[in-house]
Amino acid sequence: MKKETVFDLIGVGFGPSNLSLAVRLAEERGTSDMKQCYIERQPEFGWHRDMLLDDCRMQISFLKDLVTQRDPTSRFTFINYLFERGRLNEFVNLKNFYPTRVEFHDYLSWVAQAFDDRVHYGQSVKAIEPVLEANGDVNALRVVSRDEDGREWRRVTKALSVGVGGTARVPEPFASLGPHNVIHSSAYLSSIERVAGDGRNGKKRIAVIGAGQSAAEVFSDLTRRFPHVDATLVIRASALKPADDTPFVNEIFSPEFTDVVFAQSEDGRRSLIERFRDTNYAVVDRPLIEQIYEMLYLQKVSDDTRHRLLANTAIESTARRANGEIELTMRDVLTGHARAERFDALVLATGYRRDTHLALLDDLAPHLDDALAQRNVGRDYRLVTPSKFKARIYLQGCCEDSHGLSDTLLSVLAVRSDEIAASLAGAGQEHAAQPAADTRKTGVSRGRVAVAL
Ligand SMILES: Cc1cc2nc3c(=O)[nH]c(=O)nc-3n(C[C@H](O)[C@H](O)[C@H](O)COP(=O)(O)OP(=O)(O)OC[C@H]3O[C@@H](n4cnc5c(N)ncnc54)[C@H](O)[C@@H]3O)c2cc1C
Repeated sequence: MKKETVFDLIGVGFGPSNLSLAVRLAEERGTSDMKQCYIERQPEFGWHRDMLLDDCRMQISFLKDLVTQRDPTSRFTFINYLFERGRLNEFVNLKNFYPTRVEFHDYLSWVAQAFDDRVHYGQSVKAIEPVLEANGDVNALRVVSRDEDGREWRRVTKALSVGVGGTARVPEPFASLGPHNVIHSSAYLSSIERVAGDGRNGKKRIAVIGAGQSAAEVFSDLTRRFPHVDATLVIRASALKPADDTPFVNEIFSPEFTDVVFAQSEDGRRSLIERFRDTNYAVVDRPLIEQIYEMLYLQKVSDDTRHRLLANTAIESTARRANGEIELTMRDVLTGHARAERFDALVLATGYRRDTHLALLDDLAPHLDDALAQRNVGRDYRLVTPSKFKARIYLQGCCEDSHGLSDTLLSVLAVRSDEIAASLAGAGQEHAAQPAADTRKTGVSRGRVAVAL
């Protein structure tokens, strides 16, 4: 019988988090020969494809690409991408640190291409099972995935890096409506034309729910690209608020700040995250707020107020009418006045849940002494497991509670992948709760080698 391959590392999901880790492992002596693969459910590399609106920009400097903070001499910098694409000089002339998301997606895809031979695209991981030794130890994990033809794949690994991103959050009043003409922003571009139609059947009233960047981007897109759509942005807050990206505040997204957050008590971490929430949640880039304000103003000038922003508005209930229309019962949070209004479709820009990993790792729960439920993760992103559980599980993008607001973003990817690689290469369970600096000291030799793929 053919011996089963045992991987050193399997990455679940191949978004920017695991892509950055793949680059880091390939570039450093000591980890470049690790037996590794990545499993990604999309048929090819894609970074939030359904929100790649033409003119939307990155909310982060291009210098926070997958590698620069760790190693600006890497061949996978955004600058080298520009150089190889023949656009470096023109990019410089733009005098802008914030590329469009379309361009950054192209950069990420360009990096991802270099790793094609170790990514299994079109496979969705369904379960992670323990590989039990006779003495009850768990030294390895079995990753079960299914491909687009329904075939099941099983692979065994000593370490796992879970980087599955978020899952669309659909709050209760909307969940009961069912999917017909109700889409989440994460499916916007591939669904909006079906939902909005082409205008031949008359006007469409579409409500966008949410007060964050995605809500504002979708609202703006509807008003510009769909002349037959009357768009309404419904927000509970009294105004669209700007994202605070001023320089002192921005320091919370520096890799060093992860140490500050991690060193706090649970209450301290929570309070830090709460204090800086308005850098990332329910806030919008200032130029977009100004653009939306001006659009609404110009409607008034021309006495054609089709598009609206309903502020101070809480949605109390929803109902599907016999003709398919969606009725929202909305309460003005200032006056207490409630009223119902009908729409043809809804776009929910209601954010993402970050708990997908729990379901994936559920089969391991009996062996983990509550580590999952208690979100017991070390500074090196490794789940702190009982001594009999030696297989390593690294969690990326679901450690905001312990590692801070940058955890779900691109901000610390280059350095996080360095920390995980160091832990993978050398540090044992005893290092799982140590600060990053310590973990790095025990890490791999840092001489760069050419990427051999
Ligand atoms: C529209 C939008 C714009 C954003 N813009 C910015 C920005 O400008 N700056 C910033 O810092 N952050 C931004 N973010 C935050 C975003 O979380 C990060 O940019 C980044 O995507 C995080 O990378 P990730 O790999 O952790 O997660 P993801 O990018 O979500 O990747 C996870 C991957 O895992 C795959 N996957 C999930 N489940 C499975 C499974 N069971 N089996 C196999 N594969 C699976 C998914 O298909 C996906 O490819 C943005 C988010 C959105 C939604």
